[in-house]
Amino acid sequence: MSVPQTLDDLGEIAGQVALVRVDFNVPIGEDGAVGDDTRLRASLPTVMALRRRGAVVLLLSHLGRPKGKPTAAFSLAPVAQAYSSLLGDEVHFLEDWTGAGAKRAVSELEAGDVALLENTRFYAGEESNGPELASAMADLADFYVNDAFSASHRAHASTVGVARLLPSYMGRALQDELGALQEAIGHGREPSTAIIGGAKISSKLDVLEQLSTKVDNLIIGGAMANTFLAALKKPIGKSLAERNLEDAALRILKSASQGKCQIHLPEDVVVARELTPHPVSLRTALVEDVAADEMILDLGPRTVAKTVDVLRSSQLLIWNGPLGAFETPPFETSTFAIAQAAAELTRKGSLISLAGGGDTLAALNKSGLTADLTHVSTGGGAFLEWVAGIALPGLQVLT
Ligand code: ADP
Ligand code: MG
Repeated sequence: MSVPQTLDDLGEIAGQVALVRVDFNVPIGEDGAVGDDTRLRASLPTVMALRRRGAVVLLLSHLGRPKGKPTAAFSLAPVAQAYSSLLGDEVHFLEDWTGAGAKRAVSELEAGDVALLENTRFYAGEESNGPELASAMADLADFYVNDAFSASHRAHASTVGVARLLPSYMGRALQDELGALQEAIGHGREPSTAIIGGAKISSKLDVLEQLSTKVDNLIIGGAMANTFLAALKKPIGKSLAERNLEDAALRILKSASQGKCQIHLPEDVVVARELTPHPVSLRTALVEDVAADEMILDLGPRTVAKTVDVLRSSQLLIWNGPLGAFETPPFETSTFAIAQAAAELTRKGSLISLAGGGDTLAALNKSGLTADLTHVSTGGGAFLEWVAGIALPGLQVLT
């Protein structure tokens, strides 16, 4: 397999149009202000390099889940404004980039100009990777750059379809992300431990199955654990779980028991009758002992201690998903305690720690420990699939 080309492989591009897939899927407040702008800043090295060399830069991104229809709440217009302040220069906004006027609008841009295209998911062809939408994208530009690692696990028009139609390159952020992941994981460190938590169970089950064939320890927490506990006929009360996935959970437990992977499920948990800050009904319970009107909202102290023990004897940690409902105190406790342990072991040099995921990153930022881990990925789903050894379609197409 050939190696993807980077911006260093581009020839003369002055006056050419670059179509750059970025991930500007950022939080936007009620007032229309962009919250965390990490993802906007991540694109700057690529965008500035292309501008410096005289290209016209068209930026392509999705935002939220508008389900294939224009939806005002998911417009990228406020992001164009935020990006303009960041860049210290005008950012044009192309609301209609598939219509008859789109090519003319692009041809009026000058060398070094930057324009953001409206949300790709306003078109049904984005998520279905429709050929018409992909050619509408390709028609606007001379070459394509993927700088969105976090969107590369999806075979969409803006990540795969268009890349087949234009000469394609990896952007700087994508290159950096892959470099950091390869460096961290490339040495095959054993024993390895994956911690998987969070709430998006259905979307993570496939990866869990793959991971269980790769790592020595699989620690399951968060709402993800509830589905496994329910599958094992433990009482989980009113906990968040996906009951229809109990069979899949049992399958994963079975295949792990046949291989070398040890799965660790919670032994004790923190429960409450309502999810509010510091509820009076808060208590610690063994997983056999959760009442019908209670919810599991965090890992218990015994489970945390056991997890830390596993980390002490591990060389590599792969972490996705908060271990409790960390947005509501005190249900961040186990996530913070385990982040603390991972940070300490990483500082000591005994552990390589990799984490990824939107909410995982938010939880780590809240704990103040992000910088103490070896690498925190911009990707959630893409991160998990990459570490599980699943080929990402948006990267494959670049080779
Ligand atoms: P990521 O974005 O890092 O991939 P997810 O989106 O899968 O993570 O899950 C994050 C969410 O999971 C958080 O909003 C957190 O509150 C929730 N969560 C974790 N554990 C529980 C639990 N026991 N009960 C309810 N929600 C939980
Ligand atoms: Mg999330």
